[in-house]
Amino acid sequence: MRHTQLFTKTRKDAPKDEVSKNAQLLIRAGYVRKELAGVYAYLPLGLRVLSNIQKIIREEMNAIGGQELSMTTLQNPALWQKTDRWSDEAIDVWFKTTLKDGGELGLAPTHEEPITSLMQEYISSYKDMPKYVYQFQTKFRNELRAKSGIMRTREFIMKDLYSFSRDEAQFREFYEKCAEAYARIFKRAGIGDKTFRTFASGGSFSKFSDEFQTICDAGEDTIYIDRKKGIAVNKEVYIDEVLAELGIVKSELEEAKAIEVGNIFPLGTRFSEALGLTYKDESGKEIPAVMGSYGIGPARLMGTIVELLSDAKGIVWPKEVAPFAVHLVSITGGNDEIVAEADRIYDMLTEHGIEVLYDDRDARAGEKFADSDLIGIPTRLVISEKTMAQGGIEVVARANGTPTFVADSGLIELLQN
Ligand code: ATP
Ligand code: MG
Repeated sequence: MRHTQLFTKTRKDAPKDEVSKNAQLLIRAGYVRKELAGVYAYLPLGLRVLSNIQKIIREEMNAIGGQELSMTTLQNPALWQKTDRWSDEAIDVWFKTTLKDGGELGLAPTHEEPITSLMQEYISSYKDMPKYVYQFQTKFRNELRAKSGIMRTREFIMKDLYSFSRDEAQFREFYEKCAEAYARIFKRAGIGDKTFRTFASGGSFSKFSDEFQTICDAGEDTIYIDRKKGIAVNKEVYIDEVLAELGIVKSELEEAKAIEVGNIFPLGTRFSEALGLTYKDESGKEIPAVMGSYGIGPARLMGTIVELLSDAKGIVWPKEVAPFAVHLVSITGGNDEIVAEADRIYDMLTEHGIEVLYDDRDARAGEKFADSDLIGIPTRLVISEKTMAQGGIEVVARANGTPTFVADSGLIELLQN
């Protein structure tokens, strides 16, 4: 993509009311736009990042047998009344709306009820399980606080997967598989070394759950990490009984602020019983299915990456989530020969399937480099009078700023490795 065709522009300052680092940088670089408190639009660059994150998640969910579907945002109160979750006391973040005739509808804050009702139509025998279904779908939550930029918003996309198993053993097998898939997702997203499977409370569904917490000062949670074991405990369940069960010792734990980037939850038969999702076992007896839910917020993950991997100059995207692989920057000084050479390199990269943002603007070097640092594409290629005189291209890694020089005959190979 040519920068001159991009409608967004970088800006020197973020809005004054924006307190979080992730939103400040993402707004300044033109990834997102704040519509109102806790509500952000994704601009072309931001949408590319979000899609890349979703692609990683989708690949890993498909690899463990997940089947993708898409449910609806509008929710039927009757369904939620059956599970006693329609009231604002049960779910304090409900957004609700009314029909023309006065009837009420909900805007989904989560999807346990509709997925259980949907699967009830298709599961009737033990032979129908296990099944794993997931979606990327908009959730609405009337969150009290919205000060964490894109990490806690009132409208956001969630990847939510639900598992349906015949018994506890079949459920556990998938639960552990999904935990491993989550570890792969956060590794591919560039935050694997800072993300820990964290023992946490199970809320109203079960005694315990597992969160995936990423160490970060901007986090809202406090966790205690056992580095040797590679696991952590959330402060909310930081009690002797839990530590003993996990085989970890208080004196070896490290306290840290962390962001919950994902979680996995045993649901037991809480929803299957209330909504009649039962199956016939071998003897013909009707038994409620054992369920689990598995969430990741792609936008929260995106915000976490920005919080962790940015520097004083701007964002530093990991390879797999970056909006483009390469930022081609031409420093032309009005010289047509340099423009022609940069155009040629752009075409060459594009023909080889390399995703490139081409800063073809007629602007000064300082401005172009500052924008490139802010936008944070992993590899920068510079074409200037100097590089042309040397017969090649300067390659700069955004992460460490180290420049190398490559002859254009070796460029494609260098980028493909
Ligand atoms: P939190 O305790 O942070 O509010 P939660 O327990 O409500 O999270 P879930 O309902 O299990 O989270 O949602 C699954 C995932 O969706 C979370 O792990 C997080 O990544 C993401 N998520 C939750 N709430 C938001 C939000 N308001 N904005 C963006 N992402 C969110
Ligand atoms: Mg919440």
